[in-house]
Amino acid sequence: MLRRWNSQTPSPGALVEHQCPRCHRPVELPLGALCGNCLREIERRSTRIGRLVAGVSSALVAIYVIVRMPQDPTARYVGAVGIVVWYLLTYMVVKRTLREYLK
Ligand SMILES: [Zn+2]
Repeated sequence: MLRRWNSQTPSPGALVEHQCPRCHRPVELPLGALCGNCLREIERRSTRIGRLVAGVSSALVAIYVIVRMPQDPTARYVGAVGIVVWYLLTYMVVKRTLREYLK
């Protein structure tokens, strides 16, 4: 059914919040969106915690690689690449998860 041109209900694209749902600062935002300050704070926190978690877990993986890998140079090289890949994947997963969780 078509809406009447003078309907009192707003169209779905016109739904606007007049304050940020997270920090309650007065701003004009689309419904459900966060203000720029909150988005920057979430990004900064998720980056910091992601680096911390990735660094600690990579250190544990490095200890395991040093203890368990044979002295062969190829094995050492593969272990080093594995540590770098572990750090990057852990960082990306933790950061993404926290970004969604902190919203
Ligand atoms: Zn906010």
